[in-house]
Amino acid sequence: SEKSQKRSDERSAAAFAKAKQVIPGGVNSPVRAFRSVGLTPVYMERGEGYRVFDIDGNSYIDYVGSWGPLIMGHAHPEVIEAIKRTAEKGTSFGAPTELETLMAELVCERVPSVEVVRMVNSGTEATMSALRLARGYTKRSKILKFEGSYHGHADSLLIKAGSGVATLGLPDSPGVPESVASHTLTVPYNDLASVQVAFEKFGEEIACIIVEPIAGNMGVVPPLPGFLQGLREITEQYGSLLIFDEVMTGFRVNYHCAQGLYGITPDLTCLGKVIGGGLPVGAYGGKREIMEMIAPSGPIYQAGTLSGNPLAMIAGYTTLRLLTQETYEHLERMSVRLQLGFEANASKNGIPVTINRVGSMVCPFFTDTHVINYETAKQSDLERFKAYFAAMLDLGISVAPSQFEGMFVSAVHDEAAIDATIAAHDEALRQL
Ligand code: PMP
Repeated sequence: SEKSQKRSDERSAAAFAKAKQVIPGGVNSPVRAFRSVGLTPVYMERGEGYRVFDIDGNSYIDYVGSWGPLIMGHAHPEVIEAIKRTAEKGTSFGAPTELETLMAELVCERVPSVEVVRMVNSGTEATMSALRLARGYTKRSKILKFEGSYHGHADSLLIKAGSGVATLGLPDSPGVPESVASHTLTVPYNDLASVQVAFEKFGEEIACIIVEPIAGNMGVVPPLPGFLQGLREITEQYGSLLIFDEVMTGFRVNYHCAQGLYGITPDLTCLGKVIGGGLPVGAYGGKREIMEMIAPSGPIYQAGTLSGNPLAMIAGYTTLRLLTQETYEHLERMSVRLQLGFEANASKNGIPVTINRVGSMVCPFFTDTHVINYETAKQSDLERFKAYFAAMLDLGISVAPSQFEGMFVSAVHDEAAIDATIAAHDEALRQL
């Protein structure tokens, strides 16, 4: 039905107008406002499997997946059932529960570098805490991050950030004191030579490198061969820690996360998204010797009223238990199918497109440049993306409202869903 009629957005427009009266910009996270694509944000009513339904009665095949967490699709019956069962026994205690240990055991078992893990409530908390730990452990202040990477909105990490910051074309954020920003070094992603130069100059002062092992906040940018290995070697050489921010890639690209996929062992790992199964969760973990520096076993403070929340733990635990090696094989098959379909559409319609993909993270850039960092990602035709995004939405396909975000295929997308998406994509490109 969404193909035959013009998509209505009357109710969404009314809801947005109302929200703007009491919520800054009408939203609780900037990209949701659809500002960069110049459209009314779509207000969702419910999700089921790979579909979402908005309050105007439109439905979409969804590739946002709540920006990554919903690898098992929306409202997966087992996840919902587990949340219900747990909620009936109370939603929070502020005392330890056995569920937290079950969850930690599962994470430690599957993430190669993680011996102990601390649960928090968001990816931002995970990276912020990991940074504090790295600084406290090494007794150094500087950190190194990559241009166009996003690691949440902690002060030290909001420098040359990707995701919504890139989408909205914002400069480094006001409100971050210069004294804080001065400790953050930034170099281009995939550029080992620049990392080397930074370390030659500041090596003894650098507490850590924080890196998305597959960049997912400048669109999807895989690490070039040798890049992650190079980071591992240089941090070891200078006594700095290597932090993998796997908030997006963790349990998304592989049963053992990106570190399992590439065979690199970081000192610390940040997790989020998938491990919460759609509830608010983050985590950071790593070598016991480092992690035991956190309170109460050590002096570095980090805490949380709702950390290890039973509903979040059971949603994440149930989701992780549903993810088997076969799930990742299915994700790979569906994602390859999507990529090949999109590539065929692009050449058929004579539109330059470069598709970067690792597993179920898929990103069609509107450029024929090889996209290896933020500079090259920005060569994408953003006006064309805008038109494409609007066309896809009208054709019943929901993708992230930004060229600097990937698509997330879920385990419940099947061949029919992928083929319908490829057909819509063809039509969208024809309309450009
Ligand atoms: N790190 C990465 C790699 C992310 O993609 C994100 C969120 N997109 C974050 C950190 C921050 O997570 P959260 O939004 O849960 O704070």
